[in-house]
Amino acid sequence: MREDTDWQPTEAEIAWTKDALEQIAEGGTWAPHGLEYERTGASSLRLVSMVHHAGTVEAHARICKVLEHLKWDIDDDSVERISHDVPPELQAQAQQAELERIQAIVSGWLCPNEECGKPLVDMPLEEVVWANEGLQAYINPETGEEGEATRWMAHITCDDCSQNIPMNPLDYGYIAGEDLFYTWRFNELSALRVLTREQTVDLIDNGGEGIALGSQFNEQEVPPHMQGTYCKLVSIDELTLGEEE
Ligand SMILES: [Zn+2]
Repeated sequence: MREDTDWQPTEAEIAWTKDALEQIAEGGTWAPHGLEYERTGASSLRLVSMVHHAGTVEAHARICKVLEHLKWDIDDDSVERISHDVPPELQAQAQQAELERIQAIVSGWLCPNEECGKPLVDMPLEEVVWANEGLQAYINPETGEEGEATRWMAHITCDDCSQNIPMNPLDYGYIAGEDLFYTWRFNELSALRVLTREQTVDLIDNGGEGIALGSQFNEQEVPPHMQGTYCKLVSIDELTLGEEE
């Protein structure tokens, strides 16, 4: 039930835990981060239940570290309940942390023109051009099998030095965010924006009409992440006005 962690607590964290522990009466419970402990003695705790989730396992490992510093005993061999229902707040926390991690990485990407070096996040990411680069040799990372797959690239242009920067679609998605990723500017004036299920229902209920995308639209190949989606036609003016709000 316990995993090793390289994490080391700070004095403040140790003091905070000590404080929390001292407020629990013997036989009382303490429930931080999807965990539930029972105070079984003057300086002993027992793990009663935990949520099966990487964040919770790590939280428990960290609490054990702090308890070591405080010279408390912890019994985590007799957990009564392991819940597989991850509470939504833990899921949201994990997603948020992952998003922040990725954003910290992508905010460090710079224009490949060394004399320029402008951060990609500051470029006009909405002016992306999707291009089918044709069939490329490809090795399935899971099976190791070789094959061919159509490769798409998202091309952005540096507005300082005009450098064209081809990006892998996923990387573009990270840097541009979901809204831009799912808004395809198929010409100078208009774009298709993917609707969520709720937005689709709203639109149809209000007598509106959207566009379901196949692999071709307006004599163009539809980028792969847009295929099979239901979209609303929007004008670029509408989009730019929306950004200024
Ligand atoms: Zn540049």
